[in-house]
Amino acid sequence: MNLTEHQGKKLFNKFRIKVPKGTVINRGDNFNIDIFNKFKVDELVLKAQIPFGKRGKSGGVLFTNRSNFKQKIKELFSKIIHGFKINQIRAEEKLNIAKELYLSITLSRAEKSYMLIFSSEGGVEIEEIAEKTPQKIIKVPLRTGWEAEFDKQCQQFNLPLGTIKKVIQISKKLHQLAKNDITLAEINPLILTKSNELVAADSKITLDTNALFRHKEYLQENKEQANLEEEAKKMGFTYVQLDGNIGVIGNGAGLVMCTLDTLAHFNGAPANFLDIGGGANREKITKAIEIVLKNPNCKSLFINIFGGITKCDEVASGISNYLQKNKMNIPVTVRLIGTNEQQGQQILKQAGIHFFKDIEQAINQAVVFSKGE
Ligand code: GDP
Ligand code: MN
Repeated sequence: MNLTEHQGKKLFNKFRIKVPKGTVINRGDNFNIDIFNKFKVDELVLKAQIPFGKRGKSGGVLFTNRSNFKQKIKELFSKIIHGFKINQIRAEEKLNIAKELYLSITLSRAEKSYMLIFSSEGGVEIEEIAEKTPQKIIKVPLRTGWEAEFDKQCQQFNLPLGTIKKVIQISKKLHQLAKNDITLAEINPLILTKSNELVAADSKITLDTNALFRHKEYLQENKEQANLEEEAKKMGFTYVQLDGNIGVIGNGAGLVMCTLDTLAHFNGAPANFLDIGGGANREKITKAIEIVLKNPNCKSLFINIFGGITKCDEVASGISNYLQKNKMNIPVTVRLIGTNEQQGQQILKQAGIHFFKDIEQAINQAVVFSKGE
């Protein structure tokens, strides 16, 4: 589960990682320009609190001053960003940026260790840095004595004197924070201010969903996301929400992973990962469709079934039953092969549902639908 920026920054505070002075404005709150006086600033940054990043590029980060403050708040609350209605805005001091850095800690199961990732080219997504300037990304497993290795590799960046030392201090705090069931703790950008301070301007924290019972405080606040994950779990599904627009349902984690990769290959963007597991009956299929469609981002639904203990006719009946009972306002594409495929395909045909035996053709169709073509 992803925490919002504000929840992440609360954790940063707790672990003494410096964040910009800020406060939260809830939808419906009475707010006024006292904040400017309280923080002794003339400009603020307003940031939509949704559990996804890339807000800067999609209008979720606005700059404001005393004269347009109320108007900007209204403007931001009226937006839908990455499919999320905004119920909370974080208003914080605007920093004077000298340089934007990237810092994160992720759990690497392959290395059996937390990994520290650092780059001098922060402010854009790590994938973009990896594509444009891979030589400017440093990865170090956090094992005893990692600091010297990290320091050595950072020399190429020519950062102001003392900066690397400070990055190491912050990394140690972030490491302590991550040890609380966190699989990703990212600061992007980590801002080097003109007065040579390092401030965490953003936070992305992913909490291991399996450890949610130890972090009940997030269940209430992140209700929408947690509810879907919980609902899916009760049905024996694995569900992870993503930020694209193609709803995905498949049987088997490997098949669903492969589906996401193939979608990306055809320039499609998955809205979620949902694995129904093996042997799902028609009721389970109907439920899986319900869960996926609760994400308002979905513009196209793709169901990929490789029948084995899962029977194609059961799956087809589940889809057809859902369509009979519900008004479906997005196109559905199905790829269905394996046990009882002929019966399954017959049921889909009768229900007027697009289906394919070939995965690439099917995915191509689902992507075309997602683009409204
Ligand atoms: P994200 O797009 O969801 O990752 O949101 P961020 O919090 O990372 O903000 C996106 C971008 O907005 C940053 O990379 C900065 O360029 C800019 N930004 C965010 N906060 C500040 C700030 O306090 N001062 C200035 N000048 N720019 C900021
Ligand atoms: Mn960011």
